[in-house]
Amino acid sequence: MTANIIDGAALAGRIRAQIAQRAQALTARGTRPGLAVVLVGDDPASAVYVRNKVKDCEEAGIHSVLDRLPAETSEQALLARIDQLNRDPAIHGILVQLPLPAHLDERLVIESIAPDKDVDGFHVSNAGALMTGSPRFLPCTPYGVMKMLEEAGVKLGGAEAVVVGRSNIVGKPQAMLLLAQDATVTICHSRTQDLAAHTRRADVLIAAVGRARMITADMVKPGAVVIDVGMNRIPDGPNAGKLCGDVDFDSVSQVAGAITPVPGGVGPMTRAMLLVNTMEAAERAAGLT
Ligand code: NDP
Repeated sequence: MTANIIDGAALAGRIRAQIAQRAQALTARGTRPGLAVVLVGDDPASAVYVRNKVKDCEEAGIHSVLDRLPAETSEQALLARIDQLNRDPAIHGILVQLPLPAHLDERLVIESIAPDKDVDGFHVSNAGALMTGSPRFLPCTPYGVMKMLEEAGVKLGGAEAVVVGRSNIVGKPQAMLLLAQDATVTICHSRTQDLAAHTRRADVLIAAVGRARMITADMVKPGAVVIDVGMNRIPDGPNAGKLCGDVDFDSVSQVAGAITPVPGGVGPMTRAMLLVNTMEAAERAAGLT
């Protein structure tokens, strides 16, 4: 079997085009959607991510503010800046790029973002709202995965879904979203005994671990839908330094029914869903929803 490729880049492009139209319409009514991105320190990967987010906003007609704060910024100064953004009527979404430098309390910083501007969906009240079935913002990566499953026509009701990874930003919210669509969900993690026994039962397998190519063909049920959230650098060999996922694409694509590539799968969808969340925040602020 050779799997269908679920093209995240193409779907993300269509979503960005829809957002551009919505942004134009809202701007014409007097509210230009606005996103503030806060980066503390000079982690090179984070710098690339925030640059891309600002570029995506510009292309969609969304106002964006990029705050680059020095690595030694105090917690008090960061919280004061977030408070300013919370009160700024031109800003509808606030994103603090993670990870933060070690001296800053990540939880405290996230909880200081106004929940109705928390476009990452990481605030405890947004996590709780998702858990209890009335979400305000869905975290961008799992939200993007759900859009890809929908686009690919994957039937989730009654399906066995296995999520490998249990982080607050990917694994756990992903499991909640699959559960809300009536999948039977298993969450695996580093202490799971016999991971392959679980993954082989999956009709829908989501890998969100951060270990290059750890999901191999023998771990996948023939015909399964495989979503690869992982973003890893190949450590050695001729492709050293290149991006790869948690799934061994070459072998798994011979077994799976559908699969997302890396790059070009979940990554572009995560970026697109940030625009969707920002747009929704702005429309809500304008009293449209
Ligand atoms: P975390 O490091 O926060 O979580 C990784 C999870 O994987 C943990 O729950 C951990 O278990 C589990 N895990 C680690 N080793 C194993 C193992 N051998 N078997 C089973 N489970 C294991 O990572 P994130 O959730 O933040 O990200 C996961 C991956 O997704 C990374 O590669 C990241 O770069 C990528 N990512 C991609 C995005 C995109 O847009 N494409 C967005 C966000 C993340 P335990 O809890 O027990 O430690």
